[in-house]
Amino acid sequence: MKILLIGQGIAGTLLAWSLQKRGCEVYIADGNLAGSSSIAAAGIINPVTGKRFVKSWRFDEFYPVAKSVYQQLEQDLGISIWEERPTLRLLGTPEEANDWAIRCAQPEYSDHLGESKDAGAWSPFLKPGFGFGVIRQSARAKLPQLVAAFREKLQALGTFIEQNIEYQAVEGLFKTYDHIVFCEGWRATANPFFPDAQFRVSKGEALIIRFPGREAPLPPSDMLKKTMLLVPMGDGTFWVGSTYRWHFEDTLPSTEGREYILGYLNEMFEEPFEIVDHVAGIRPTMIDRRPVVERSKINPNVFIFNGLGTKGALLAPFFATQLAEEILL
Ligand SMILES: Cc1cc2nc3c(=O)[nH]c(=O)nc-3n(C[C@H](O)[C@H](O)[C@H](O)COP(=O)(O)OP(=O)(O)OC[C@H]3O[C@@H](n4cnc5c(N)ncnc54)[C@H](O)[C@@H]3O)c2cc1C
Repeated sequence: MKILLIGQGIAGTLLAWSLQKRGCEVYIADGNLAGSSSIAAAGIINPVTGKRFVKSWRFDEFYPVAKSVYQQLEQDLGISIWEERPTLRLLGTPEEANDWAIRCAQPEYSDHLGESKDAGAWSPFLKPGFGFGVIRQSARAKLPQLVAAFREKLQALGTFIEQNIEYQAVEGLFKTYDHIVFCEGWRATANPFFPDAQFRVSKGEALIIRFPGREAPLPPSDMLKKTMLLVPMGDGTFWVGSTYRWHFEDTLPSTEGREYILGYLNEMFEEPFEIVDHVAGIRPTMIDRRPVVERSKINPNVFIFNGLGTKGALLAPFFATQLAEEILL
């Protein structure tokens, strides 16, 4: 079976890999369009999210699949993709510390959350006055590295097409391919094959910072979360993000985004830091916050894999496997 995927972010990458594993001949077209989400993302997987520390949707089901898929890809591609590391959670108010303590006492959270007396290796960097929690089973899937290495592999096989595919060209492609799967991220808002998909895309920005005079090797090696998340990148720099904007004019990093992140960093840190880079991407978020993984009602040989929202790293491995099986039914 010959299949064309349109878009090679994390959705296209993991679906292509799952289909290849099942013996399909897979081609991917990607036009390197502005605003790609996977190359801006830190790829963090976190069991609890939000101000109330609520457990992520179907976390216990998705996490083992994600771990297994990323570890198999590490073997296949010969690169490091999967990193498990705890997250130090800063608790800014007595109410927050109280909510945290309540969660820690709940049996369904006890594997994931704990309390900490101090900030460990983060201590010398932080302003005083915080309480501390620990999030276990947090992990990082290195999405930009995975997408880049997988693309190199496709290029070597001659199955990567560097091209923007227009919707009106799709019917003609069935002369060559049995199925077409759209994995086009936020650009799917105008996809005529899926008129019912309810997108509400959001722009996200992140900074890469370093603490002058504090070079690799780290500490600190744990991630750090308050309103912003800091992720050690392993080279002495830290990814810090991110912002959420529902209305935006372009896909570029903005002064407003940078100032927003800096405001939170200045609340957290005593230690001076400097900005090394600033990135932006558009998340393919849905109104109901659930992925869109389905066959088109307009053409049964057309599928979509999208709507990964803020949780592509956790959701994509599970749903790529499911969709690959459905396509092959
Ligand atoms: C700042 C930021 C931080 C984030 N942090 C995290 C995080 O820590 N953890 C997490 O899980 N998620 C995070 N996310 C969300 C995550 O990035 C997304 O869930 C995920 O990357 C979406 O992947 P995708 O493959 O659907 O889309 P994308 O990565 O956007 O890929 C779509 C691809 O399709 C191509 N394309 C589109 N249309 C066409 C066409 N017509 N023809 C050819 N090619 C086309 C584009 O060029 C692009 O390469 C973050 C997002 C942002 C912006």
